[in-house]
Amino acid sequence: MAEIIQYKCDGCGAIKGEANHWYQCALDEGVFKVADWGKVGWIDGDRTAIHHRCGAACVHKALDAFMGAK
Ligand SMILES: [Zn+2]
Repeated sequence: MAEIIQYKCDGCGAIKGEANHWYQCALDEGVFKVADWGKVGWIDGDRTAIHHRCGAACVHKALDAFMGAK
């Protein structure tokens, strides 16, 4: 029986569906990376360090936090 892995948005807690347009964000030595999940699959690096984001709004929240915005 195949294991079903559910991904949750680290911004708002939404659950990822098949057709959702999600992003992966990662911090890599001071560099903020954003990847289009549907296009590139998994980005390189430690998967536990990758944030899942359900859309642009939640990516912006992560970027704001990275840049120290209030
Ligand atoms: Zn979200």
